Order: sequence, then C-alpha cells, then structure tokens
Amino acid sequence: MGEQLRAYRYALDLTDAQASAVAQHAGAARWAYNHAIATKFKALDERQAVIRGAVDAGADPAVAAKQAPKIPTRFDIQKALNQVKGDDRTDQEGVCPWWHSVSTFAFQSAFSDADRAWKNWLDSITGNRKGRRVGRPRFKAKHRSQDSFRIHHNVKNPTIRPDAGYRRIRVPRLGSLRVHSSTKSLCRAVDRGAVIQSVTISRGGHRWYASILVRQTADEAVPTRSQRLAGTVGVDLGVHTLAALSTGETVVNPRHASVARTRLTKAQRALSRTQKGSNRRRRAAKLVGRRHHEVAERRASTLHAITKGLATGWATVAVEDLNVAGMTASARGTVDKPGSNVRAKAGLNRAILDVSPGEFRRQLEYKTAWYGSTLAVVDRFYPSSQTCSACGARAKLTLADRIYRCAACGFAADRDVNAAINIAAQAAVAPGKGETLNARRAVDDHPQPAGIQSLTAMKREGHRDNAVVTPTRQRVGHPNIGAAQEVAAPYAYG
Ligand SMILES: [Zn+2]
Repeated sequence: MGEQLRAYRYALDLTDAQASAVAQHAGAARWAYNHAIATKFKALDERQAVIRGAVDAGADPAVAAKQAPKIPTRFDIQKALNQVKGDDRTDQEGVCPWWHSVSTFAFQSAFSDADRAWKNWLDSITGNRKGRRVGRPRFKAKHRSQDSFRIHHNVKNPTIRPDAGYRRIRVPRLGSLRVHSSTKSLCRAVDRGAVIQSVTISRGGHRWYASILVRQTADEAVPTRSQRLAGTVGVDLGVHTLAALSTGETVVNPRHASVARTRLTKAQRALSRTQKGSNRRRRAAKLVGRRHHEVAERRASTLHAITKGLATGWATVAVEDLNVAGMTASARGTVDKPGSNVRAKAGLNRAILDVSPGEFRRQLEYKTAWYGSTLAVVDRFYPSSQTCSACGARAKLTLADRIYRCAACGFAADRDVNAAINIAAQAAVAPGKGETLNARRAVDDHPQPAGIQSLTAMKREGHRDNAVVTPTRQRVGHPNIGAAQEVAAPYAYG
C-alpha cells in the first residue's frame, strides 16, 4: 500500500507550568497567523493599487499584473519579521519581542496555515478548487478560533518521541508531557520503522490534545480468512438506528447529542442568566464549551468503534451514496412552498446530523484500506428502502413505517435491515448490466461472523485507536459502483 500518514491522538495531562507554556505557544501561533494574513492583505491592496495605476497609464492589464509586486509567502513573511520582531531580553523594541519564549515552529506552522488559507481562498475564486466556496481568510480571535500549534523536528534526529513507559511523549520546548492513554501502539509503529513527522497540540473544551503525525510504510492489506468468509455486509445509516446491517443486526443510535443536549441546554440557560462581563459569565461560558466538547468526543469514539468493526469484520462493506445535504435540508421550505411537518423533520435532521454520515463514509474509506476490505458505494438512486429484499417487489413506505412488509411474498423485516440487505446485494451486481441477483441468497451465501461482537469489543479501545489518517493514496471502491469520495489532501508542511 505504500506510504501512509497516520495520526495518533492523545489527551494530555499537563502540569500547570506546561499548561501555561502550551497556551503561550497557541497564542503565539494565533498572533503569527494574524500577522501573516494582515501582511498578505496589505500587500494585496498595494498590488491592486499598482495594477490600477499602470492600467490607467495605458498598460496592458495582464502585463501590469505580472509586473506588480507579489503577495508574500511564509518565507518572505518570516524574513521580514526577523527584521522587526525585537527582543525583550535586550530591551529591543519590536512587534513581537517575546518570540524567543516559544518554539520557532509555532510561528512557522502558523505561516504555513496562513499560506494554505490564502491559497484555498484564491483557488476557490478562480475555480481551481472544487467543492464548497472558501471564504476570505479571517483573523483568528481569541474566543472564536481553536487554540492550536504544530511543532516539527528533524526526522533524522528526532526530538518528538514517546518516552519509555508508554505514558509520556517528549516535545521540544515543552518537555515530557503525560498522556491519558497508553502510547503503546505508537511505540510499536515507531519500532516497525514509522517516522514521527510532527506534533499538533490543540485545545478541545477544557483539555489539551496532542496529535502525533507519523509516516509509515505498510504492506498492501489483504482481507483475513474470517473477513473473506464473512463476505459482504450492507450498511444502512439510519435515523432510528444508527446503522442497520444486512446481517439483521442494528446498532442503536447512541444519540449522544440528544442525551447530552439536556446538560448542554442547562449550561446554556445558566449562561444566559449571567451578566455580561462578570466572572460568573466567564465560568458559565467555559462550561458550555466543555459540554459541547464532551458531545463531540463521545460521538467520535462511537463512530470510530463502528467503522473499525465493519472494516475488520467483512471483506466488503457496502454503503449507500447518500446525499447528505439533501437529507438535512431545512424542513421549513420556502415562502412559496412551505414545508410540511416541520417540527418532526427538524427532529429528524438533528438525528441524522448526530450520525455524521459524511464522517462515517470518510472513516470507512481509509479503514477498509488499512484492514484489507473494500468499500462498495451503491448508487443513491437505487431505492433500497422501497424494495423487497426477498422478491424484489416495490412498495411505498413512509418514514413512520418501521417494518417492511411485502404484499407480494409476505417477507417482513425491520425497514433499515431490509434496506441494508438490498445494499449488500446491489454491491454484488455490476450496475448497468441489467443483472439481478436474489438478494436473500446473496447474503445467505456468506455465513456471517459475530460482526457486532467485534464491534463492541473495539469500543473499549477508546481513544487510542482514534487514529486520524490522511491517506496518501486514493482508494476507489468496488468497480463500477460509484466513485470514491475525494479525501482531504495532506497538510502542506513548512
Ligand atoms: Zn417480497
């Protein structure tokens, strides 16, 4: 499979001194980012003025644009900053005389981030970037942006490394940081030749996290014997159940957000009762942030457990190519065409978002590649929930119908399980050939393993396995079945 970038993420247990050093680094990175963006905007104004002047004087616009001063990149910005930064150790005045108290990488990583934000914006304007329109880079405000910075090292002479005992990681300038979980899997990867590239330290709620990026080579993963025996599993992402499998099993939507929403609402209500600028308000706001963060963390670990269970349990995981934006579009409708049943649909939308289908799909993409399975994406125009998985007859179901009952053959099943069986069967046929397959038999051909058992076992592994990956290679799903989604490009490192 070649090279892989993989991230190991740990919650940190910092000493007071480390916590303040880390916060200082994050502040420096924010300052540097804002400095870079401001420098770029100032240069853009100057550039446009020069071009305008030249064109007014009769120059060709294309020539004028070529001759006008360029927008500075991180190297230019760093070089210029070195002249004016000052140094408070020698009472030299400047724009950031405190620069020596943080790692120089806090500046460098922020400058890279600013370059990327700038490029994304320009590419989005010029049409060189697909997808959602990227806005003009914004300045990072202390209370709005996420506190984060990256530290690199020379990979030949690594200074970012796990300490002995699986409990600590060593980061230059910050020292030995204690982590919540064990670094064993990271240590093993390093022993097998993985190379640590950088560490990103960021704040989530009240806690700091370290995400260690590792470059490793991995053999092409092939399905294990038990995966091959298991064959194909169809997955229907649902609202009432988080996921229904073609094996008949359902994973109950933990609805983290709805359970935690009560706590969150309480925290928000408390916040609204406080007075602006008071200490009480500051504390209440902190609690609201913490509650939001808890919801996100729990949701993330559930999703990771499920996608890992699927990717390791079967040779092929079949999912539907859902139109997420369409499913969650506002139920209110427009003035001309007001939506019906708005309240019920609003609840539905919340539940769908709770499952994060996009993230589910993204994780399945890279985990199937890791564990030797294949992701098959079934065309979303295939009516998986309206088709009888036993005889192929069609029926109209409303969202309220929980059980699929076939009038033609008498088959009855949970509606989502019925859909999952159809998805598995659809993945087995090459679309466009007009070929059909008896869906029941297609599934019955493969004895199913205790997929969900392995799935719940995975859950216990918790955050250690919340490895976030940036695949260096794009994986294409089952032949002829939908194109693989574009995956996020690796960070541009500086
Ligand atoms: Zn039927």
